[in-house]
Amino acid sequence: MAPGDVPPDDHAYRVLVSEIMLQQTTVATVLSRYGPFLDRFPDLPTLAAAGANEVRDAWAGLGYYRRAGLLQACAQSVMEHHGGAFPQKAAQLAKLPGLGAYTSAAIASICFGEAIMPMDGNIERVVARLEAFKGPLPKEAAQLRKKAQKYVMGVDTGHVAQAFMDLASSHCGANSTNCPTCPLQKLCPVQGPDALKIPQKQMKKPPIEVTWHLLLTHDGQRVIMERRGPGGIMAGMLGFPVVDGPPLGAYYAGSITHRLTHRMITAHVYLLKWDQQTDKTAPAIVKDCNRATLKQLPTLMRKVAERSGLFKV
Ligand code: SF4
Repeated sequence: MAPGDVPPDDHAYRVLVSEIMLQQTTVATVLSRYGPFLDRFPDLPTLAAAGANEVRDAWAGLGYYRRAGLLQACAQSVMEHHGGAFPQKAAQLAKLPGLGAYTSAAIASICFGEAIMPMDGNIERVVARLEAFKGPLPKEAAQLRKKAQKYVMGVDTGHVAQAFMDLASSHCGANSTNCPTCPLQKLCPVQGPDALKIPQKQMKKPPIEVTWHLLLTHDGQRVIMERRGPGGIMAGMLGFPVVDGPPLGAYYAGSITHRLTHRMITAHVYLLKWDQQTDKTAPAIVKDCNRATLKQLPTLMRKVAERSGLFKV
């Protein structure tokens, strides 16, 4: 049984939510969002049945919003194809939407006791050093994963994974090591200065530069917004309309840069007074300029809202 006598599937659901949140968001941010998300979607059936926009809005502030849709698609897949019970092996879990090798292994080992090492960047680093592994990552991650199996055979995988994570932060860091006091020193073939050369990393591509002109049409109290389309950056999230260039007659309120994994966005912010006498377009989404609206926005849009000076917080 899982901690606190939580049924394994409920435990798996909580691990799933936390692992997906932690994929590209800091621990501090996840800590502030995890509880409210579970309050709103306490179990798999609730998440599977929720509206897509409701789930996206609850994801606001966590970034990388595609994950919200994938998390819900995963819940729906478990409900539809597995009778509401998670598959218990990592290989089957990896077939669910949004679950990569690490998350699948984490759920299978922590919740269902499978002997498989969940290989995140920290555990990869420790295993690579213990194995004097010379292959570049992530290209040869599958090879390293195979080598890691010997550390979890016949033991409690969750405890071993936790011990490796602790060692990664206490002794075996990405940029610093403390080999003389490391409890695995006698087993480690690369201890010393050479440890920092392992694992080798493949060169990353520089981010693609993207320029947005964002238009905030407002009457001082409310602002016109839109829900972004289903594909691309911040898909399905609330935001301010992106226009082709500096809008005629608009006030330029400044610019913001915002880094995503593969893109660097430069957002230019423009304010335009909303003349409701002459505007016959009937915008679909009009929001109050207040804290409640800010909470529904992805990080870049929230920065833009704050830069506009329209929002009272
Ligand atoms: S001896 Fe050094 S390189 Fe080896 S596992 Fe320990 S801290 Fe890491």
